[in-house]
Amino acid sequence: MFCLPAKYYCYPMATNEYGADGLKMMEELTINAHQVQEQVLGEILERNAETEYLKGFLNGQTGKQLFKNNVPVVSYEDIKPYVDRIANGEPSDILLAEPVIEFHQSSGTSGGQPKLIPATAEISKKRAVFHTLLGSVLDKHFGDLNRAGKRMELLFVKPEIETPSGLKARSVTTSVFKDNGFRNILPVLYTSPIETIFCLDINQSMYCQLLVGLIQRDDVVRIGSIFASTLVRAIKFIEDHWKELCSNIKTGYLSHWITDSGCKNALSLIMKPDPELADSIENICGCRSWEGIIRKLWPKAKYIGAVTTGVMRQYTTALDFYSGGLPLVSSVYACSEAFCGINLEPLDKPADVSYTFLPNMAYFEFLPVKKDPVLMTQEVQFNSVPKQESIETKSNNDDVEPVDLVNVKLGQFYVLVVTTFTGLYRYRVGDILMVTGFHNNTPQFQFVERENVILSIDADKTSEADLLKAVIEAKTLLDPLGFILTGYTSYGDMSSTPGHYVLFWELKVKEDNDNKELDPKMMVECCSRMEESLDYTYKIYRKQNAIAPLEIRVVKQGTFDALTDYYVSQGASLNQYKSPSCIKSKEALKILDSRVIGKFFSSKTPL
Ligand code: AMP
Repeated sequence: MFCLPAKYYCYPMATNEYGADGLKMMEELTINAHQVQEQVLGEILERNAETEYLKGFLNGQTGKQLFKNNVPVVSYEDIKPYVDRIANGEPSDILLAEPVIEFHQSSGTSGGQPKLIPATAEISKKRAVFHTLLGSVLDKHFGDLNRAGKRMELLFVKPEIETPSGLKARSVTTSVFKDNGFRNILPVLYTSPIETIFCLDINQSMYCQLLVGLIQRDDVVRIGSIFASTLVRAIKFIEDHWKELCSNIKTGYLSHWITDSGCKNALSLIMKPDPELADSIENICGCRSWEGIIRKLWPKAKYIGAVTTGVMRQYTTALDFYSGGLPLVSSVYACSEAFCGINLEPLDKPADVSYTFLPNMAYFEFLPVKKDPVLMTQEVQFNSVPKQESIETKSNNDDVEPVDLVNVKLGQFYVLVVTTFTGLYRYRVGDILMVTGFHNNTPQFQFVERENVILSIDADKTSEADLLKAVIEAKTLLDPLGFILTGYTSYGDMSSTPGHYVLFWELKVKEDNDNKELDPKMMVECCSRMEESLDYTYKIYRKQNAIAPLEIRVVKQGTFDALTDYYVSQGASLNQYKSPSCIKSKEALKILDSRVIGKFFSSKTPL
């Protein structure tokens, strides 16, 4: 029987040990997925059977079947009392045997507060295994880029909070950047000095990271950020600041508004007058069209690395435009709760990306997502409703049993449930995934959507994925006219009766031609196209006039940056920030509404 070597789930591997070793590990893990998962669960239960939490269900026993029979599938609210007790100073072993050394703040919230996920010392070793596997896959496709040059990766931290017990609560990325392992490799592999990443003023941090990235442009072999939205924002930032950046490069002096002492010190070690470099960048940025700007500015870059799946899909058109044909590589599916999967085909287009789960990272289970039988009938009848439009998640899956990793079925939708080494037992992550294939015996998943993100006026339920699909359909009308959609969000406007869907769109002209005007007729057509693309129930209620015509409000450029700034000011981390598909906050709505430059309504009832 396969027995997982300790190093496969927990050991610090140096980053230059990628390559064949990682690929071999990947094969062994995916071939022996079932045994690895059994071993992981066994280990978690052995370690934690005596915790107050598990004892309540298992009475100190460690049987796997007992675990499945007795331990309930839970969400954050169920474990929050334990987390709060640890945060308030009780010993961690009420929930997990290992000492909690910090909490990771998930981007999800509970009662307006970030969810706190316990973290232990072992996590950085697990992370090292994950990155070894990821590195070996990327090396296989792009060669050893670590030897070829540097990464210009735009990375940010968010302020930490301290719990009453003195434990820190920080984002996972902040925790990674504070790790000594990362700090040691940073100067060798990355263009950004650590001080620029740690600068809490996002504009100063962005400016300085871009400046050093431009200074080292001939060394840069990879461009990236954690999520695609940050990169699009960075390019817009260069559009606004390139003259100033060039002037700094030319003179060797940093702009006066950079007051952060860490940034100033770090840049003083790097900057020297370089008029030649400044001239070449000025020539590139001064061009009328910014198509392909990333490749022009960083000619040796081999790819752009950032998550482009899920809500990040909306940024791929803009990135494709700027990238100059560089592949967009979405490599990782992970969350504060667990590292989950790796994309084994980095060159796949964002729409085709699947993540192969790593069975050594946590014990994974999957709650089948029920399809509403009525909708299924309609699917057959109307033949226009694709599978994911009829996803119906049961809010309390009492009567649905979770399925093991190796038992998921191709083409099925599931809600991810994790049992981790850090005190989460059958914890519902809240992501919906679809099985797209298998690598050896391990399933591969496409990220479908976050659970329960819905726009609803009546009995209609529009999910994040439904909305994205409709937006993609509608924006194809604008593509030939030279407009790019650079950001969108929505809300259900109930201020009049009946209520209606409102979409906020930020548009950019492909060519730098300020005179180009939006054609109102085409915008009205976009509204109708969106309605056509929404699901059966929406259309029924629209026809019955229970929902008023869909509206698109075009907002001026920079609006989505202002929205990001607002959420960051409210405590969101720029690294982990995902532009919400649906707005709930009145403040955020005000920001959008104050920047509207055109309103358009659908003029026909959808068929
Ligand atoms: P956080 O808890 O803040 O780390 O955010 C994790 C969440 O980000 C996940 O639960 C997903 O909803 C989303 N996410 C992470 N990786 C991806 C990915 N590759 N594609 C789409 N969404 C992702």
